[in-house]
Amino acid sequence: MAVYEHLIRDIPDFPTPGILFRDITPLLGDASALRAATGEAWRSAPMRAAVDDLAAPFRDAAIDQVVAIEARGYLLGAPLAVALGAGLVPVRKRGKLPYETYSAEYSLEYGAAAIEMHTDALGPGHRALVVDDVLATGGTMAAAIELVARSGAEVAGVATLIELDALGGRARLGGRDIVALIHY
Ligand code: AMP
Repeated sequence: MAVYEHLIRDIPDFPTPGILFRDITPLLGDASALRAATGEAWRSAPMRAAVDDLAAPFRDAAIDQVVAIEARGYLLGAPLAVALGAGLVPVRKRGKLPYETYSAEYSLEYGAAAIEMHTDALGPGHRALVVDDVLATGGTMAAAIELVARSGAEVAGVATLIELDALGGRARLGGRDIVALIHY
């Protein structure tokens, strides 16, 4: 078991009955992960290990921008971008970004929504790594991939901390290079 797996908490029936919510806040809140944000001491910490494991397959992938999905995706996406020497592009829920946006509709395991990305965040020739905390049905990730495609940039990979295998999200993403650290 990875050193970060025990820090994922199961919350039954959240936000609606029948959903087993995979809560990553214990991982984010682990003090040892934040104690030494720079330096070797951090290497053994769960959060650092998780970011390292997400980054490892993409170290030679020439990633220009990490595209992170609101909101928990930001918390993994920011350190992942630093680890890869890339910038960070936020994908937000509809109506939140201030500049001109691309927009894509999607359905969730619980509910429906639209996400947006600034039109000037990425362009042709850029290589993007899209990151989120959980890949469930794949609707959110598919919409984020659509946003990147609309910009003309290339989706060089998809990274997620958790994949809920039974929901088949991977099949919706068109055979891309998907890295998932923990499978449930
Ligand atoms: P989906 O579009 O179905 O792949 O859902 C993925 C998005 O919903 C991610 O942004 C997750 O944060 C969130 N999500 C969906 N299902 C769960 C779950 N069981 N536990 C935690 N987060 C979830």
